[in-house]
Amino acid sequence: MNLIFIGPPGAGKGTQAKILSDKLNIPHISTGDILRSNIREGSDLGRSAEGYVKAGELVPDDLIVTMIKKVLDSDDGRGFILDGFPRNLEQKMSLDKMLSDINKPIDNVVVIDVPKVNLVDRLLQRAVKEGRSDDTKEVIENRLTVYEESTKPIINAYGDMVKIVNGVGTIEEISNRISDSIKQ
Ligand code: AMP
Repeated sequence: MNLIFIGPPGAGKGTQAKILSDKLNIPHISTGDILRSNIREGSDLGRSAEGYVKAGELVPDDLIVTMIKKVLDSDDGRGFILDGFPRNLEQKMSLDKMLSDINKPIDNVVVIDVPKVNLVDRLLQRAVKEGRSDDTKEVIENRLTVYEESTKPIINAYGDMVKIVNGVGTIEEISNRISDSIKQ
């Protein structure tokens, strides 16, 4: 199964993508995680991406698309959960092209819906727990704005592949909703 997870920062999309990837035994591909590990290692990609990630801005499309292409090229046929990509319409178009070249259509686009008021609190709590440098109040606001302006428009572009899931509740409740939604 080939899935995309979309949701605002703090929606719990990474947690839920990981749970589903374990359940379905398919890889969880998180662009945020790949970028953070490149930044930690100080790779060329990490050095190029670091300033954008710290500021809560999108890393330039060409860097992200090259990074994702490498991952998709090594796909072992089990499928994947893309978490954090695509993040704007240009990335969606690049992904459409890459997937059509390898004949792997997307089955479902899971959108985790959480009201903005809940997000800022969750992100500030996560900042304390995980010490993420992009979880300061100012950067959080910026990431939410980037989501509204750049990422949300791709939801409509996916049409009836989209499953909107209520992202307020316990981790288990939300993961059950996600599993139910992709069965339909
Ligand atoms: P995330 O962990 O998905 O919230 O991503 C953390 C940060 O990594 C984002 O705020 C962006 O700076 C960067 N990032 C992750 N995915 C992408 C993407 N698809 N395009 C551009 N930047 C990205």
